[in-house]
Amino acid sequence: MFEHLKKDFPILSQEIHGRPLVYLDSAATTQKPQAVIDSIIHFYQHDNSNVHRGVHELSNRATVAFENARQTVATFISARHSSEIVFTRGTTESINLVAHTWGAKNIKTGDTILLTEMEHHSNIVPWQLLAERTGANIQYVPVTPDGVLDLAAFKLALRKNVKLFAVTHISNTLGTINSIKELCALARRSGITTLIDAAQSAGHLPLNVQEIGCDFLAFSGHKMCGPTGIGVLYGRRELLEEMPPFHGGGDMIAEVDFFKSTWKQPPHRFEAGTPHISGAIGLAAAMNYLDAVGRDKIAGHDAQLGIYAYEKLTLLKGIRLFGPPVGRSGVVSFMLDGIHSHDVVTMANEQGIALRGGNHCNQPLMKKLGVDSTIRASFYFYSTTSEIDLLVETVRDIQKLFGVS
Ligand code: PMP
Repeated sequence: MFEHLKKDFPILSQEIHGRPLVYLDSAATTQKPQAVIDSIIHFYQHDNSNVHRGVHELSNRATVAFENARQTVATFISARHSSEIVFTRGTTESINLVAHTWGAKNIKTGDTILLTEMEHHSNIVPWQLLAERTGANIQYVPVTPDGVLDLAAFKLALRKNVKLFAVTHISNTLGTINSIKELCALARRSGITTLIDAAQSAGHLPLNVQEIGCDFLAFSGHKMCGPTGIGVLYGRRELLEEMPPFHGGGDMIAEVDFFKSTWKQPPHRFEAGTPHISGAIGLAAAMNYLDAVGRDKIAGHDAQLGIYAYEKLTLLKGIRLFGPPVGRSGVVSFMLDGIHSHDVVTMANEQGIALRGGNHCNQPLMKKLGVDSTIRASFYFYSTTSEIDLLVETVRDIQKLFGVS
C-alpha cells in the first residue's frame, strides 16, 4: 500500500550481499525518512545553540524549535498540555524516571507492583530495583497459551494491594495488541496508577492518552522514524507536579543555594542538563511525517502484513509461531524445529534479509514459552507482502538445507 514511500527512506535502496535489502527489523528500530534527516541537518546548519538560557537569535530559535517539538508531541498523543510531555532518552529512561520519582514517593513496603509476563526488560528491571529499595512485591498477569493476557487473572490480581499497573501496549515478541483502554479503566476503578509502555505502538497506531485513561505513557523516537537518544514520558499533570526530580543539574532548578535548591515546575523539573535538542526536533519531524502518511492507515497495513506473514508461515512444516493469529501487530515470532534461531538469522542475512533472533529482551516471557529465543520479523509501512513472500521462501530454503522439510 505504501510501496511508493520507500523512496523517502534512502537507506532502504541499498544492496546487502548483492541483493536488495529487505529490512524486517523495525521493532528493534525503524528506518528514517529523508524529512527527518533533513530536519536534523537544518538545525545544525542554521539554528544550533543551547536552549532556555540565551537571549541571542540562535538560542531563541533553538528554544522555539525545542518547545514547538514538545507541543507537536502533546498534539500527537492528545495530551491536555505540553507540560505533560517530558523529553527523555527513550522508553527505558522514561520508565526509570517514573520508578525513581513517582515510585520513591508512592511505593512502600508491602505494596504490589503489577506487571505482565509479556513485558520487555525495560518494564521489569526498573520495578525490580524499586521493589528492592522499598520492600514492595512484584506480581505478573499471566500470558495464555494463545499469547494474550489472562483477563480473569488480571481482574483477580486487582484485589490485592496493587499501587501500580505497568503494561506494554504491543508485545515486541508476540505482536499482541493489548486492550489498554479496558485494562486502565479496570485498574483505575481500583485506585491503581497506570503506566503504558508504548514503545511498539506510538509510531504504529493513533494514540490518545486521554481516551486511554493512563497516568503515564512511555515511548522512544527511534521506533517511530525519529532519531535515537530521544524519547518521551507522558505524565498526567497532577502526578508530575507531585513528583520529586529525577536528575539534578542545570535547567531543572528554580533556585540554588549552597545547601538547598528548589525545583522548576514539570516538565523542566525532569530535564536536567542540556537536552537532546536536535533529537526532539527530529522526533517532531517524524511525527509530522507519520501523520501525513496516516497512523490509522499504518495500523491497517501492520495488521494486514502481520496476518499475511502469520498465515504464510503457518503453512510450513516444522514451525512454531508465537502470539495470537488475530489482534496482532506487524511483529511475527517463530521457531523452526531442529534449527537454531541464530542460524536462521545468519543465513537470511546472506540473502539481504534483516531479521532478529534472540530473546528480544523478554527473558521471562521466553521462560514461559519454554524457549530460549525466537526468530522475529517485524514490519512497518515501508514493508511489503513481496518481502514477506521472500522471507517465507528463504525460511523454506533454510529448512531444506538442514534436511527439515
Ligand atoms: N519496551 C518495548 C516493548 C520495546 O520493544 C523496547 C525496545 N525493544 C523497549 C521497551 C525499550 O526501548 P528503548 O531501548 O528505546 O528504551
